[in-house]
Amino acid sequence: MARRRTGPTDAVKDLVYRRDGGRCVRCDSLHRLTIHHRVNRGMGGAREPWINQPHNLLLVCEPCNGWFEDNPRESYEAGWKVRRPQLPDEVEVLYTDGRVYRLGADGVRAAIVEAAR
Ligand SMILES: [Zn+2]
Repeated sequence: MARRRTGPTDAVKDLVYRRDGGRCVRCDSLHRLTIHHRVNRGMGGAREPWINQPHNLLLVCEPCNGWFEDNPRESYEAGWKVRRPQLPDEVEVLYTDGRVYRLGADGVRAAIVEAAR
């Protein structure tokens, strides 16, 4: 693999795919799935070590990936996008089951219990 390719490794993509149940995190679609970066890769690629780690990545369908770009306010509120200087492990993510989850760098997703908020 060329060193200048800056995407996540296949192992990480696999973790994200399994963590998110093989479905788009916004609409449950099973089709045209892709890996979305919550914090965008900056100019100059992936300098931060977490940029290609599971907690910065979501499994989404291509239409939703475009929707995030068109609807940044809603996307930040749901945690589908994260705005620097916030870090992806500081922002919880809304999933289609209506719950919010905190994502770990190890590919684990932990539901936030409502009463604890
Ligand atoms: Zn979708």
